[in-house]
Amino acid sequence: MSYLNKKTLQDIDVDQKIVFVRCDFNVPLDNGTIADDKRIIESLKTLKYLVEKKAKIIACSHLGRPKDGFDMEFSLKPVADRLAKLIDTKVIMSSDVIGEDTFKKINNLNPGEILLLENIRFHKEEKKNDREFAKKLASMADIYVNDAFGTSHRAHASTAGIAEFLPAVSGFLIEKEISFMGEALANPKRPFVAILGGSKVSDKISVIENLLDKVDTLIIGGGMAYTFNKSKGYKIGTSICEDDKIDLAKSLLKKAAEKGVKILLPVDNMVGDDFNPNCNAKLVDSDKIPDEYTGLDIGAKTQEIFAEEISHAKTVIWNGPMGVAEWDRFAIGTISIAQALSDNKDCVSIIGGGDSAAAVEKLGFADKMDHISTGGGASLEFLEGKVLPGIAALMNK
Ligand code: AMP
Repeated sequence: MSYLNKKTLQDIDVDQKIVFVRCDFNVPLDNGTIADDKRIIESLKTLKYLVEKKAKIIACSHLGRPKDGFDMEFSLKPVADRLAKLIDTKVIMSSDVIGEDTFKKINNLNPGEILLLENIRFHKEEKKNDREFAKKLASMADIYVNDAFGTSHRAHASTAGIAEFLPAVSGFLIEKEISFMGEALANPKRPFVAILGGSKVSDKISVIENLLDKVDTLIIGGGMAYTFNKSKGYKIGTSICEDDKIDLAKSLLKKAAEKGVKILLPVDNMVGDDFNPNCNAKLVDSDKIPDEYTGLDIGAKTQEIFAEEISHAKTVIWNGPMGVAEWDRFAIGTISIAQALSDNKDCVSIIGGGDSAAAVEKLGFADKMDHISTGGGASLEFLEGKVLPGIAALMNK
């Protein structure tokens, strides 16, 4: 599923129209204060475009996980205040979602102004993708725009259900996600290299299976590599391993060989005598990790081999750190991959969301990458080739 055929904001006339925009304003809050406004900033391109076009904008998002009904701990009010500072138009906050206040404020909305609805998850119908609720949301507007990539893998009323009742297109954020990830999966410039890391094989089985049909090389590092190396008969000490996935790892390696996909696994590792940032650490070959040691990062030889492969790639998709990158001592392998990617100027570099995006940002490589996905779960499902209901529901070109 590449979704390259989906209509975007550029394909529809929004002039003076009432436009319902599903944003991802699910920002981290610290005692009611926004700790990181990246998600609001990322929504600005779409919102500013609509402001310029003099659309009447109804913005909608969830925030956190409110349990039951209206709970002001999860109010979007702080988002409305921050958005008003970031955009040159009036931002009005509604005190409800589908209630009287919303409909009254829509009637009074001027072209180019934004009405932000309260947290859509105050209604349990949202997550149930309730059809009547979706219809009510749709009744507010002329056009639906989905720009919440981070929730596009969920079939909720405001992410998918509403698209049944309105002309539905993607915003610029989703358009960018599709143009990088969809293009890489459908028409990659080759060699196409995928780098997978992180803790568990079980989380990435479907990604590996889907990518084996597409990539030229698959690089596996991080915690998940030990299950693969154990399947090859290596001694992995106390390294993280999913024993019930060893046969699967073996069969994935066999499948890769049959398909002519090159697989690179670590040949050396930094290992520690304890799972602890201050442990005694040493460098050992990956097939001879001592019994009482645990693998915490890829080693120097491995870094060189992986970097060499990356240096002549034309497309790279990377998901998951190469070691326990939260600990500076064991972030070296992850840094070496980020460095190799930024050194290759000829390559389209795409970072899956979640931990890899956080690592690339923390390590200072964010502006060197072509695309850092804004959705952890959603980007993983995109790479798995799964249907993303929030995108599937949009109109085709
Ligand atoms: P994931 O969420 O699957 O992408 O995994 C990210 C997590 O994997 C990070 O918290 C890393 O600390 C962890 N990780 C990476 N390498 C290792 C390793 N060798 N041992 C244990 N955990 C690891």
